[in-house]
Amino acid sequence: MPEIKIDKEKCKNCMICVSVCPKKLIKADKDHTNHAGSNYVVFSDPNNECLGCALCAISCPDMAIYEVLK
Ligand code: SF4
Ligand code: SF4
Repeated sequence: MPEIKIDKEKCKNCMICVSVCPKKLIKADKDHTNHAGSNYVVFSDPNNECLGCALCAISCPDMAIYEVLK
């Protein structure tokens, strides 16, 4: 089943990937910060809904979504 990998150290919490995911599988983690002091987003797909469409990875300006596994 598809899944994505997010490099939390590159994420700037801009939320673009959150807005483009058709299944709303990426969410802000407001409780944790990376080494730069930024919150970051996490992938959560308990019902295996990810399409592997890579829209999230293509949209990330910081290339923080570094792998889309199908
Ligand atoms: S690959 Fe597509 S469905 Fe899966 S998290 Fe990214 S945008 Fe959402
Ligand atoms: S688009 Fe990239 S930098 Fe922005 S929140 Fe998503 S993973 Fe983080």
